[in-house]
Amino acid sequence: MRINKIILYPDDSTPEINKNQLFSFIKEKLKIKVELRDDFIETNSEKVTQVFSELRVHDLKKKFIYNPHQESDYEFEKKLNDYTKQKQNEIFYEGFKMQKKFSSFLPDNENTLSVLSIIITNKLICTFDENDYRFHARAILLGNPTIISTSGIIEGPAKPKKFYLDMMTNFSQISESEIEKKYQGEFLTYHDLRLPQILEGYIMQAISFIETGEEFCENDFCRIFNSHWQKDLIDLNVIESKLCPKHKKLFFNLD
Ligand SMILES: [Zn+2]
Repeated sequence: MRINKIILYPDDSTPEINKNQLFSFIKEKLKIKVELRDDFIETNSEKVTQVFSELRVHDLKKKFIYNPHQESDYEFEKKLNDYTKQKQNEIFYEGFKMQKKFSSFLPDNENTLSVLSIIITNKLICTFDENDYRFHARAILLGNPTIISTSGIIEGPAKPKKFYLDMMTNFSQISESEIEKKYQGEFLTYHDLRLPQILEGYIMQAISFIETGEEFCENDFCRIFNSHWQKDLIDLNVIESKLCPKHKKLFFNLD
């Protein structure tokens, strides 16, 4: 493997992701050297807050433009960082530009192809899609550093079609939480106990991208498959937990 070390920067917003379990997964299962560090956003607080204030997306249906520097925006983001540490986020940030900035904050000797930094955050990251001309929430941004958004995992991949239909047709009679209850288990919610296994899948995708240059796997039965639906994400990572022969070879040297 090209990667000989992974540095994990999880935040504390979602205890369910279980940092130590992820650490052991990389070390014991994938047999890659791993180091656990403190929350990247908190460690680089001042610089990162500046980035957030520049990269906040105000309109999801318009192409991104940098926000001009304003002290009030900076103060707003600073407060928001403290406020949303344990909560879900509703504010979107431009993902690719964030990734580029975060890359410049990595120490030089760690900003190499052999060291993969993975930042786990509850901030909502989005990227612009030219096909439907709007921003979409993203669960993961591949590269170095890889950014995994726990809020993006919940908001990115689509919930069952019937759920949206229920929300549209029955919303006035029953509450959103009642509709969510009806579909319990079929999609991920904040603080979902299945998140560790989902994150393992995303970490493998991050490694696979650096090793092969391919964003995801074509095989719809492999954990590295690009799941557009929550159901696929759960089936592949929690229920089936399988890899295709190519990825088995990559991770475990098995045919
Ligand atoms: Zn595969």
